[in-house]
Amino acid sequence: GGPVIIVGAGHGGYQVAASLRQAGFSERICLINDEAHLPYQRPPLSKAYIKGSAGPESLMFRPEKFYQDQKIELIAGRAASIDRAGHKVHLESGETLAYGHLVLATGARNRLLDLPNANLPDVRYLRILDDSEALRKIMPSKTRAVIIGAGFIGLEFASTARIKGLEVDVLELAPRVMARAVTAEVSEYFQDRHREAGIRIHLGVQATSIEAEGGKVTGVSLSDGRHLPADLVVVGVGVLPNIELAVEAGLPVAAGIIVDEYLATADPDISAIGDCALFASPRFGGSLRLESVQNATDHARCLAARLTGDKKPYDSHPWFWSDQGDDKLQIAGLTTGYDRVVLRGDPAKKAFSAFCYKGDKLLGIESINRAGDHMFGRRLQGMDRTITPEQAADESFDLKGALA
Ligand code: FAD
Repeated sequence: GGPVIIVGAGHGGYQVAASLRQAGFSERICLINDEAHLPYQRPPLSKAYIKGSAGPESLMFRPEKFYQDQKIELIAGRAASIDRAGHKVHLESGETLAYGHLVLATGARNRLLDLPNANLPDVRYLRILDDSEALRKIMPSKTRAVIIGAGFIGLEFASTARIKGLEVDVLELAPRVMARAVTAEVSEYFQDRHREAGIRIHLGVQATSIEAEGGKVTGVSLSDGRHLPADLVVVGVGVLPNIELAVEAGLPVAAGIIVDEYLATADPDISAIGDCALFASPRFGGSLRLESVQNATDHARCLAARLTGDKKPYDSHPWFWSDQGDDKLQIAGLTTGYDRVVLRGDPAKKAFSAFCYKGDKLLGIESINRAGDHMFGRRLQGMDRTITPEQAADESFDLKGALA
């Protein structure tokens, strides 16, 4: 019993609060929010939001009235430390909040570029609404962007910058784009599409320095000796989970805050969810830390259920999406560790899916402009069923029939 205090008002934090009330939880709920906005959706920051002219309200999960009606206390500020013995959280403001259960939903922060001049205003990152606002504001006065890192966020921003008329170069250390997340087939498709759009993609290279004059960026030098002119640099080289509160409180951490399959830390009165949590997964074996909306919101729902008496291990099926230019990538399942990829559809027709198998086990499906395949994959996994690689490759094989 007692109040639930949630640190971090992002996707996971917001959802725990909302789901707790939905399940009839009647005690105090505080959502500690260190961003100067109502809780909002992050994915559009590198997609529709940065392209358009809609205001911040367009991103909010709920209007302010929702929090009042639901008696969810939004507390502006940052949690500074946890007093586990006293069941209290200390905020930077000096305020103290007593908890029955504490939820760490602190997310992740950008990995910073460790180069001289990386702190100039022309060098930008994309994690929070203020980052996206700032980029939207400065982009019209810029002509050449160098994007460091060809992950989802780097490529999403690259296509937007190109659509806005900027010259765009993307640098990637790996031999292909999104290498850690998707199959080579999908990487190649996106490389081709971005290059067709006029984006220059440089693989197997690293930025070695950022040049500036009078505080303004003039270019980026590469590990292969080349120099690219630029008046804007956007860095997307991954994130670091926000684990410091847990570390300082003596909770075990590794590549995230360590939680069991119920999302509980070593302290049964403290849980961690979303991007910051390294959770035990009986389904996938070992532990996982994922960075997705699905993961954060499903963690939140699982935890809210536990805190209202419905204790089940976390066992949701992962899914993800990314919008780049006119292409929509959707991923069902976790495709890492595959040994065989079967294509359904045709990359030349800009619509195909990569079915990823390990032996005859279907690990996941990466779909490009094939929403039907993606939904099929999610439903199939939900039913713990599979189809063979031969069936996947055969376009005359009826997917719907396999779900019946
Ligand atoms: P967050 O949403 O990051 O929320 C954590 C919050 O905690 C933040 O507001 C942080 O400031 C706050 N916080 C941290 N420490 C403290 C403290 N001590 N006190 C108080 N507050 C604190 N995922 C997808 O599935 N699809 C997408 O297309 C997609 N696109 C994305 C695009 C961008 C630009 C970004 C940045 C992410 C995208 N993601 C996408 C990832 C997705 O947004 C994250 O996985 C998700 O937001 C994780 O939710 P979370 O609650 O764990 O963390």
